[in-house]
Amino acid sequence: MAKISIDLNSGTVQKESAVIGIDLGTTNSLIATIDSDTHEPYCITKNKDSIVPSTINFNNQEIIVGKEASKKLISDPKNTLYSVKRLMGKSYQEIMNQGNPVNYQIIDNKDKLVQVKINNQFYTPIELSSFILKELKKIGTDQLKQDIQKVVITVPAYFDDSQRQATRDAGKLAGLDVLRIINEPTAASLAYGLGIDKNQSKIVAVYDLGGGTFDISILHIQQGIFEVLSTNGDTYLGGDDFDQAIVNHWKKLHSLSSLSDNDKQLLRITAERAKKELSAILSYMDSIDIHGQNITLTLNQEQLHEILHPIIERTIRICSNALKDADISSSEIQEVVLVGGSTRTPAVKNSVRHLFPDAKINDQINPDEVVALGAAIEADILAGNRTDLLLLDVTPLSLGIETVGGLMDVLIPRNNKIPTQLKKEYTTSVDGQVNLAINVYQGEREMVTDNRKIGEFILKGIPSMPAGIPKIELTFLLNADGILQVSAKELRSGVSQQVTLKPQYGITDQQIKDMLQESLNFAESDMDKRSLAEAITEAEQLIYATQKFIRDNSDLLTPKDVTKLEEIIQGLNQRIQSKDKNAISAQVEKLNNYSKPFAEKVMDQQISKALSGKKIE
Ligand code: AMP
Repeated sequence: MAKISIDLNSGTVQKESAVIGIDLGTTNSLIATIDSDTHEPYCITKNKDSIVPSTINFNNQEIIVGKEASKKLISDPKNTLYSVKRLMGKSYQEIMNQGNPVNYQIIDNKDKLVQVKINNQFYTPIELSSFILKELKKIGTDQLKQDIQKVVITVPAYFDDSQRQATRDAGKLAGLDVLRIINEPTAASLAYGLGIDKNQSKIVAVYDLGGGTFDISILHIQQGIFEVLSTNGDTYLGGDDFDQAIVNHWKKLHSLSSLSDNDKQLLRITAERAKKELSAILSYMDSIDIHGQNITLTLNQEQLHEILHPIIERTIRICSNALKDADISSSEIQEVVLVGGSTRTPAVKNSVRHLFPDAKINDQINPDEVVALGAAIEADILAGNRTDLLLLDVTPLSLGIETVGGLMDVLIPRNNKIPTQLKKEYTTSVDGQVNLAINVYQGEREMVTDNRKIGEFILKGIPSMPAGIPKIELTFLLNADGILQVSAKELRSGVSQQVTLKPQYGITDQQIKDMLQESLNFAESDMDKRSLAEAITEAEQLIYATQKFIRDNSDLLTPKDVTKLEEIIQGLNQRIQSKDKNAISAQVEKLNNYSKPFAEKVMDQQISKALSGKKIE
């Protein structure tokens, strides 16, 4: 598909700017790029470390982000912020409803998004996230010796529009051009090459267990489209709970009580160290000084697994719920992608393997880095550097069909990411209709006559049924090359038909620009035309249904009733001719009111259906 050089908030990355993916995490954030020689993604490091804690310290007008700020969580907790991602795109009330997740001061900004008060200054979560992004940008710029602008940022699959918009705004505030916001499980799958082969169709589970949160996403990857079938999780479940469980085990074993804050901290750090080491070795031993007393702490893998069992089981139950929501059985999962540092724990891997016995477990890539690496691959695809692979792009003009009244009914809106697939259900407007003409259009105007027709086909052989009864499912599949496949299926009979179209064929960038400009110029009069067309359609359908009603129920109606109904219908026809929308609506109401008492008596389902729903002529 030709690249469109109009303002689509997307497009190609210039060759001279680096290809960047960012994992903006709750606890840790990472920045990744693509090696220009090997073409492999890698994380950019600072002091040989790719992980940048998402912690911010405010100290005499200076703002520190990352490892140094994390140290201040203990020495200067009042001026140190963490987990700002949990506040993104939320109001004060929403945060309180979920049981305030942070222990710093947040301000009720009435119906607006929440603010954080620190050092007598107010900050929005967007500004705070922008500080983290600026730090990542700085690390990237320093290491690559290149300006960094165009980036792909990941967000959890469950993020809603306002949380995604907040993330986009944070990027803008940090001086970044956010090419695209993509889901974390999508990025992790991309890092393992899933979805890159266009002919592949797979059901994948992405199991993400970090320090403080757990997420499971069930994805259906098909023709390069990542469809989220379901997500589930627990925002307070992760490696921190593992550490706490180990601490509790030692406290019990060594009868440790009433510990000072420092002792608690020391125990927690030792527990985390033991947990990490036991991912590689079988037993752990260390001695620490607590209460001025030296104690030896030991733990082996088997004990650890026993301690962690109830916590890991919680994640497994959440996975089962996600499978249920997606209507998928665990044996249908073909691949599992492991994300998050806590998936290194062998007991976690074993439980995942047990739950998904038929799946290939993808755990070779560093689970802390996998999301950022996938984001860099997406940025590389957007940069047009992987033309052999799937090109995720957007469609420059809306695609839809003509419905009754000559109206444009959009299936794929403009700027929709491609490849994409969308379905919609329609019905017929005339009794006994056996053929249905489907006219496909492209453009932004309300009436199809003002748009560009790109094809048509006829769905033949629909069994004869009353108007409104056939269920015609239309599917628009726009693939990565911009080829549109339209298929129609009458669901009751199974009759189907398909056609392949090339929406961009023979259309220049200038023509697309002109079409968009026209849709803006004519927006108001188009809306008037649309509502008139809708009113006329509604009126014509009501006339049709009422006349049918009179024919079918002559025994119920007196000659006087019939004359009155016909009189109102005649009046309605006159108003349709005059094209006066308000007059049509008023007469429709009159006809409805007059016929209502009769209709109520005999209104069968067929007529009620014929009066509703979108119809194709
Ligand atoms: P994340 O939020 O994805 O960075 O995950 C961090 C969590 O992973 C923390 O709870 C760490 O203790 C945990 N973690 C890191 N390395 C290991 C390891 N080798 N074995 C087990 N857990 C680990």
